[in-house]
Amino acid sequence: MNRLAVYCGSATPADPVYIDSARAVGHALATRGIGVVYGGGRLGLMGAVANGALAAGGEVIGVIPTALVGAEVAHKGLTELHVVDTMHQRKQAFTDLSDGFVTIPGGTGTMDELWEAMSWAQLGYHAKPVGLLNTAGYYDHLIAFVAKMGEVGFLRPVHRDILIVADTLDVLLDRMAAYQPTVPIIRMSSADL
Ligand code: AMP
Repeated sequence: MNRLAVYCGSATPADPVYIDSARAVGHALATRGIGVVYGGGRLGLMGAVANGALAAGGEVIGVIPTALVGAEVAHKGLTELHVVDTMHQRKQAFTDLSDGFVTIPGGTGTMDELWEAMSWAQLGYHAKPVGLLNTAGYYDHLIAFVAKMGEVGFLRPVHRDILIVADTLDVLLDRMAAYQPTVPIIRMSSADL
């Protein structure tokens, strides 16, 4: 894994554990020689990931839509900042430029990115690992919900291991490196669906 897309919040929660861990994620990825691809913002956890990686000499590529550059939330000190027209182009770029996805705590935008990465893995639009870092138990309910999707039958057994979860980045990266792509929907027969 040479580059990972990091999905995270643009907000700054009151509890410093989130910003601190985002900075630590950026730093740890850079230390391992793994480049960061992210939304190109300077605010909240997004800025903390970027600054953590840059401080450790890492490569940080931001991909941001024109509208958000206008809102002056773009980070000006990145290795590269790609400005695109639409959010769809931005998410396609995250997928094209990275070897996998790491989601750390975030809000609605982060969820959009995480669920797309999971959905595209299941469909077969990419075969890259999708990791979730459960910082401070933030994602306990989401993890339980994914299990519920499997129990009820909306998530097929063959796709239950797409979401790779860990409480620490070291464990998460080891699991992601060992990921074996599952059988995607585009290779399944209608009888299996
Ligand atoms: P949220 O989790 O709702 O804060 O959204 C964060 C995600 O949405 C990021 O990964 C970005 O791709 C996008 N996003 C939302 N707000 C911003 C912002 N102010 N600057 C750059 N990207 C943003």
